[in-house]
Amino acid sequence: MEIKFEDLKILYSKEQIEKKVAEVAEKLNDFYKGEEVVAVCVLKGAVVFAVDLVRHLDMPLKMEFIRLSSYGSSTTSSGKVNAVDIKLPDLNDKNVLIIEDIVDTGLTAKFLIDFINMNFHVKSLKFCSFLDKKITRKVDVEPDYYCFDVDDKFVVGYGLDYDGYYRNLPYIGYKE
Ligand code: 5GP
Repeated sequence: MEIKFEDLKILYSKEQIEKKVAEVAEKLNDFYKGEEVVAVCVLKGAVVFAVDLVRHLDMPLKMEFIRLSSYGSSTTSSGKVNAVDIKLPDLNDKNVLIIEDIVDTGLTAKFLIDFINMNFHVKSLKFCSFLDKKITRKVDVEPDYYCFDVDDKFVVGYGLDYDGYYRNLPYIGYKE
């Protein structure tokens, strides 16, 4: 599938995104109640969501960045997760918040949750995804927090790419 800019339709607008991100941040503020958090942003896709989300969070917070990849071709999952760069500080006794762009098959989410639980005894572990594509799930994993549902579409924008492009779009778009 090729995705041209002129073919893109808007699924979630900039205004809808701004409102929803603030709402999810409020839920996180309620949950953590001022306790310190380590936010782990999964590069590259989650970077736009993460920088918007953390600016609404009101607790002491550190940001870490890791890089994983699971996409084989431009628009389909390879079915396995590659840890491109997963160096993390000591997360023992920390409140860890994973920030992801989209949960699709769920393989990346499961890989990360298992990785953190195998290597650390965290105080709490929460998974916050911008999008949730439940229909394509292959493993039993759900985000604790998410902003929007997506059905079986390949979406771009707000950090999500097609062949490296479109991460800069302020909305979520798709090709009909
Ligand atoms: P999973 O491991 O859950 O199958 O896939 C997670 C990763 O696949 C996401 O972090 C994202 O990079 C990529 N992905 C899954 N669905 C989409 C989509 O609709 N659009 C884009 N651009 N990437 C997607």
